[in-house]
Amino acid sequence: MVRATQLLHPQREPVATRPAATVLLLRDTPQGFEVLMTRRSEKASFAPGAFVFPGGVVDAGETPPQAAVRETLEELSLRITQDSLHVLARWITDRDLPRRFDVTFFVARMPEGQEPVADEAEQFEPVWVRPADALARHEAGSFFMIFPTIRTLQRLAKYANVQEVLAACPGEPLWTSCPRAGLVGGADTRYMEHEMPFGELALVSPDGQLVHHLDWRADQAVPLLKNVTRITAPNPGVMTGPGTNSYLVGDPNTGYVAIDPGPNDPAHIERLWRTAGGDIRLILCTHSHADHSPGARPLQQLCATKPPVLGLASKPTARPASEFTPDREIADGEEVFVEGGGVRHTLRAVHTPGHAANHTCFVLVEDALLFSGDHILNGSTTVVDPPDGDMSAYIESLDKLRRACDERGIEFILPAHGYVLGFAPLAIAHLKSHRLAREAKVIAAMRAKPAGSMDDWVQIAYDDVPPRMWPVAQRSLLAHVQRIEALGLLG
Ligand SMILES: [Zn+2]
Repeated sequence: MVRATQLLHPQREPVATRPAATVLLLRDTPQGFEVLMTRRSEKASFAPGAFVFPGGVVDAGETPPQAAVRETLEELSLRITQDSLHVLARWITDRDLPRRFDVTFFVARMPEGQEPVADEAEQFEPVWVRPADALARHEAGSFFMIFPTIRTLQRLAKYANVQEVLAACPGEPLWTSCPRAGLVGGADTRYMEHEMPFGELALVSPDGQLVHHLDWRADQAVPLLKNVTRITAPNPGVMTGPGTNSYLVGDPNTGYVAIDPGPNDPAHIERLWRTAGGDIRLILCTHSHADHSPGARPLQQLCATKPPVLGLASKPTARPASEFTPDREIADGEEVFVEGGGVRHTLRAVHTPGHAANHTCFVLVEDALLFSGDHILNGSTTVVDPPDGDMSAYIESLDKLRRACDERGIEFILPAHGYVLGFAPLAIAHLKSHRLAREAKVIAAMRAKPAGSMDDWVQIAYDDVPPRMWPVAQRSLLAHVQRIEALGLLG
């Protein structure tokens, strides 16, 4: 767990939720299925003026299905039965909002022979609309909807008809979400758990307050905790995403550890130095690639105390541009720290070959944070490029990181490219299953074309990747092929 003393903002308890229920009534039309929506009163205390599905708070002694049936009758004079309801989803109102509900979303087929009549008090203008049309009208500014409504319609738009929707509802909610909000270009922007910025918002603002800016800017340091600041290098690109993330760990009393100074970009190096008040005690490099370690020596030179550069030396398999020698190698499991004012920040090395033979991750022990370098990224896939990259080593290192998460209660991963990732153990499990799924496709391609070339196999095994990415994908393909052959997986 992150130390409460390191959080940037004073925390307040989110408002308690009340149980609620809502129903999406669906009907088929020749042009696709429609859902019944109504406009909420402009005087409503929650989501005034928004187009919603009928529903409301679950009264004392009532179940969510009973509430859904009652509200549908009260608001729209429609009689539906409890056994026509299928659970679709569960939405818990965002932590920052003043009125919060824990809402079961049901779907049901509209019964024959009834017409909705709005109560003209809470609900107005009943309208049958196809999900895609509602979304298009919202986009055009003529059909106001709140976040859970939008996201629910986006998911429903994938189905062809009412039967498909009902068949897709297994009884448990298809998804459960309590969204989080950040600022993008100054505007309130919300995200579900699986979306890229969610973990970062959870780290910076556990209580959900709308305080964190998500814009990528190379010219500004981004505080994530009192003792963790991210400075992104001005090197965005296909391979680097928004740019390389350099991190500073420490505070004015302890001095700072710099992780991955990035490319040798003088403005970026100076920004790191300046943000640390010139007081950098240690420089750590996760690996030697050109967008990570070349800034280490210039940063060292800039600091009066010439802090040591620690990491692992590049192996003979590294390309010439990735040659790197630290002042001292850091051992697997070795801990280094800065301390002062009764506070210590400890970084523990976890050797993780795979992306590069000299790759190491670092755990900030006191706050259970994992600095993953390029081994785990947010928003892109790590390239495993032989011979310095090795797929079996990559997967074994994922297992090692997973164990570290379990042992240390690590929830957040701070990658060298992209936002902070949350749900660390789950994220690592997904990465591993993604690699093994790719491996299965490569095996299938090799079996389908035993005399085929890498060009043949990449088209089959990476058919979900745009052809312009195939030259890069071929490097990872080679890593898979080498692993498959080494382990005798073709049988
Ligand atoms: Zn790299």
